[in-house]
Amino acid sequence: MNCPFCGFEDTKVVDSRFSEGKQRRRRLCPMCDKRFTTYESAERPTLLVNKKNNTYEAYDRTKLIQGLSFAVKKRPVSSADIIAIADEIENMCLTENRTQISTREIANFVLERLRSLDEVAYIRFASVNREFDTADKFLETIEELRAKK
Ligand SMILES: [Zn+2]
Repeated sequence: MNCPFCGFEDTKVVDSRFSEGKQRRRRLCPMCDKRFTTYESAERPTLLVNKKNNTYEAYDRTKLIQGLSFAVKKRPVSSADIIAIADEIENMCLTENRTQISTREIANFVLERLRSLDEVAYIRFASVNREFDTADKFLETIEELRAKK
């Protein structure tokens, strides 16, 4: 990565983290001592999602964000909170070098976060992702939520 200030080729990465689906790198130019940031979206291992029926599909950040947006609709949870949850899941997989994650793991991870953010969003997300087919399942989830308080 060339330095945008002096053109020096061998800039150093001083910090690297995953944010909003992109690899964010802080770089330092040893020649002119200036700092700059790059965002790179390519070259990360494909993450597969293991679904309930034991099939796999490519992890889709947009789909996760959509599911979360539905759960938090008209609730006091910001889009920054949603993006942070998706980032956390992706960072966790990246850090642990995972190539697959199950829908259940994703759901549990999300529920863990939603529990402290908003109870209604928690129940909505659980109802979709744990496939509630009866009202009893709703009640069970609410009781679980209450018990963990
Ligand atoms: Zn430079």
